[in-house]
Amino acid sequence: MAPPKKLICDRCGATLDEKDKIELALEGTASWHNFVKEQGNEPRGVFPCRNWIRCRGEMIDSKDKDKPRGG
Ligand SMILES: [Zn+2]
Repeated sequence: MAPPKKLICDRCGATLDEKDKIELALEGTASWHNFVKEQGNEPRGVFPCRNWIRCRGEMIDSKDKDKPRGG
């Protein structure tokens, strides 16, 4: 599976579109998901936003964010 080209925070809207940083962050996705599940939540994104302490957002593929609703 190809890594997403652009990720966006589902809370504060911060974006990440640098390939190297995305790939680096994706390496931590499994441990992030374990952390979220330990809190009793379902992970929404692939890793936490860099502003997570403030926004509690998760980075999601911007394609998913732009997906039209109700389709
Ligand atoms: Zn955020």
